[in-house]
Amino acid sequence: MSIKTFKGGAHPPERKERSEEKSIERVTSVSQVVIPVNQHFGAPIQPLVKVGEYVKAGQKIADAEGRMTVPVHASVAGIVKKIEPRLQSNNTEGLCIIIEPKEPEEGESSTDFMPPLDPFTCSKEEALARIRAAGIVGMGGAGFPAHVKLAPSKPISVVIANAAECEPYLTIDARTLVEMPEKVVEGVAMVMKIVNAPEGVIAIEENKKFAIPHVEKALEAFSKARPGINIRIQELKTKYPQGGEKMLITAITGREVPSGGLPMDVGCVVQNVGTLCAIVDAFKEGKPLIERGFTVTGAACKTPKNLVAPIGTLVSDLVKAGILEIDEENLARVVFGGPMMGVAVPGYEIPVQKNTSGVLLMSRDEAQYYTEETCIRCGRCMRACACRLSPALLAVAVEAGDYREAEKIGLLDCIECGTCSFVCPAHRQLVQKFRVGKQILRALKQKESQNAR
Ligand code: SF4
Ligand code: SF4
Repeated sequence: MSIKTFKGGAHPPERKERSEEKSIERVTSVSQVVIPVNQHFGAPIQPLVKVGEYVKAGQKIADAEGRMTVPVHASVAGIVKKIEPRLQSNNTEGLCIIIEPKEPEEGESSTDFMPPLDPFTCSKEEALARIRAAGIVGMGGAGFPAHVKLAPSKPISVVIANAAECEPYLTIDARTLVEMPEKVVEGVAMVMKIVNAPEGVIAIEENKKFAIPHVEKALEAFSKARPGINIRIQELKTKYPQGGEKMLITAITGREVPSGGLPMDVGCVVQNVGTLCAIVDAFKEGKPLIERGFTVTGAACKTPKNLVAPIGTLVSDLVKAGILEIDEENLARVVFGGPMMGVAVPGYEIPVQKNTSGVLLMSRDEAQYYTEETCIRCGRCMRACACRLSPALLAVAVEAGDYREAEKIGLLDCIECGTCSFVCPAHRQLVQKFRVGKQILRALKQKESQNAR
């Protein structure tokens, strides 16, 4: 099999060995869940329940009208104890619904799932409505509503299952391929049916070769059960940010997503493997997105693991329950997500959310702090940027507050991968500047469009 890739990128230390051979463990009992009401990219939604109310697992507890919204469901059966702002994994406070588990009355069910639905025979509208009703968002990090992504306005030729997992440390996608390859394959086929795509590709980085025989076996079994569905595996070079949508598309199809464009502009839909599994559960079991898999690792984690836990589980509760052990003396930084694109948070009393792919408990050695120095114009950031931007020039524009100039030279095309910061010998905090710069630029543009109305 030929190994494909994209131009640019970097190779940060992989550090996956701590958890890549650990089988996924299911967390079955928690003392509470803290469920953020707004976990998706899009318009805000509101709670539908009141304090004191009994809710079942899978019951809708927050929602709103609007295309760019997805509902949120109770992840355990129990009593709503509080509805109040709490610190979330993006390091901001947001409204959360806090549920304390409680068994239902005798003879009552503890779950409130939807009836199964066959995506291969139902209409496209029914399939998209099911995906929205299940509250599914992109689970690789962005939290983009899946029902919107799966309703492209352009024809789609390829569905790509993103199993690149290019972020160092994280191993949950690799474990998913090894332990439930049938579900991943079925998820690809379901998405191909929904977007009417003739081809499916499961993209796996070279450093996860061990997962390939598992997926091959699942593909063989699937093609016997449902002949004629064209799904293949594509091996990719281990390189960061290989799992970025644009990089994956270029590596696999040779197509370039245009500046400001979307994967559908070049006939592609990309879905993370966790999202594909959630889609399968939503159709086959009628189960909303109420739990997810994630990796907990880092040198300050004495018990690196791949876990599946209810959405809203506090990492601190996993420690109290003895599921995780932390080397407190050595703990220097907690990051939700991977080390390149994740968010550093002040502690671990923070809930697992729909987009939490990992929790890193980093030691002092791992969490090195550098002093930013002056740019020496070495050009390394430019050579490494997979989006072909000039990070050094962008930084000058953002630092000067010249957001229009930053926009002209591609600020909004930055995918915030952090490769430029990683390769910079002057330890320039480039990606940090671009994250803030993009927010300010978007706010400016929004204000301008409001004024123009
Ligand atoms: S890598 Fe750092 S030092 Fe080199 S040009 Fe870019 S910003 Fe300047
Ligand atoms: S400029 Fe943006 S896209 Fe390019 S390497 Fe830096 S963070 Fe990544």
